[in-house]
Amino acid sequence: MKLDTKAMRHLAAEDWRVLAAVEQGTKNHDLVPTAVIEKLSRLRGGPSSVSKSISALAKTSLIGKVKEAKYDGYRLTYGGIDYLALHAYAQQNVVYSVGTRVGVGKESDIIMVADHAGTQKVLKIHRLGRISFRTVKANRDYLRKSRGQGQGGSWMYLSKLAAMKEYAFMKALREEGFDVPEPIAQSRHTIVMAFVDSFPLRQVSEVGDPAGLYADLIGLILRLAKHGLIHGDFNEFNILIREERSTTKNETTGTEEETIKVTPVLIDFPQMVSMEHANAEMYFDRDVNCIKRFFDRRFHFVSTQPGPYFKDAKKTVGKDGARRLDAAVEASGFTKKMLKDLEAAIAEQLAGRGEEGEAPGTDEEEDEDDDDDDEGDEENDSDVSDEEDEPSREQDKAVQQDRQGSK
Ligand code: ADP
Ligand code: MG
Repeated sequence: MKLDTKAMRHLAAEDWRVLAAVEQGTKNHDLVPTAVIEKLSRLRGGPSSVSKSISALAKTSLIGKVKEAKYDGYRLTYGGIDYLALHAYAQQNVVYSVGTRVGVGKESDIIMVADHAGTQKVLKIHRLGRISFRTVKANRDYLRKSRGQGQGGSWMYLSKLAAMKEYAFMKALREEGFDVPEPIAQSRHTIVMAFVDSFPLRQVSEVGDPAGLYADLIGLILRLAKHGLIHGDFNEFNILIREERSTTKNETTGTEEETIKVTPVLIDFPQMVSMEHANAEMYFDRDVNCIKRFFDRRFHFVSTQPGPYFKDAKKTVGKDGARRLDAAVEASGFTKKMLKDLEAAIAEQLAGRGEEGEAPGTDEEEDEDDDDDDEGDEENDSDVSDEEDEPSREQDKAVQQDRQGSK
């Protein structure tokens, strides 16, 4: 799924209102009838103005017309909800321009964006339900039942939940001083976060001190546990390695020496689970083993220390005044049903990757573009604000940097 922002600047204010009306109507209608769109958009121009906007939106595939026995109606597409999110960010001055896509997983698109000042940020668009639910029967049946009771199993609802949960955890973790990207904004199925100038651990072929990095990562798992959390997908794709170079003067020789400090930055939180979860031990062990296996394979490092073990980690939950982040996030508006819906969808998604817990692209080559529904690879830099003026020089520069940053 490609984010094509070309049509954004051609949408009139009325078109945006009609698009928002279709979104609003989706809450109560599977297919939003024209009459409902008219009522919700409250356009001054009345039905003719609404129908003009409807055709403009349908032409750019932001909404799709569906004919059914009883009535015709409209449905918001991925493109439509992408546009609404970007529009919201543009209005909050969070995003001014959209750069290149830096990553695509089965569950998300990762896109470089910039604000007016040219500050680079990362837009993560959740695409849960992009691959059809067909792997784990129990989850599929659960989601189907949930969908029957409203929009429980729909991609839009599930992707939105994933974004909300990820944003909530990123904020809570950041507040506790964890090294995670700074969360900037959230809208619908997307989040905007600070860009971390780094490499995924996956791309790191050598480190000066594997034992030190291993200890940091195990320490991170244990620190999360203390706050009541398990990451649940703690692998080399979700650990970014930031290098900080500094020069110090060697007092004996008098020469300047460069030291490189590597810091792991943790990302990707929609699947996080509580230490109280029924399968907590399995998730905890899987995270630990993932790191052990990776360090063995990549750096030929095997720790002499066994564990860590879940039962020990469990005893530390909430100790020394550690804030329970699992409880904090659940208290922030997630119902049990929401968490259950999301969990079923994510379990499906993980199973769809093949081996459970394994990230896509398990070959040694970096598989940067494994998106099958992506036609061509052309850049789609564009400006998403309503202003009709040409992008400024600074803007061009920002987009340039985006391109370089993504190489
Ligand atoms: P997914 O849920 O699809 O796995 P992730 O959040 O793990 O998405 O992001 C996928 C990839 O995008 C990461 O492996 C990383 O290379 C890149 N990425 C994500 N967030 C950032 C960020 N804030 N800064 C820099 N790179 C990022
Ligand atoms: Mg990931």
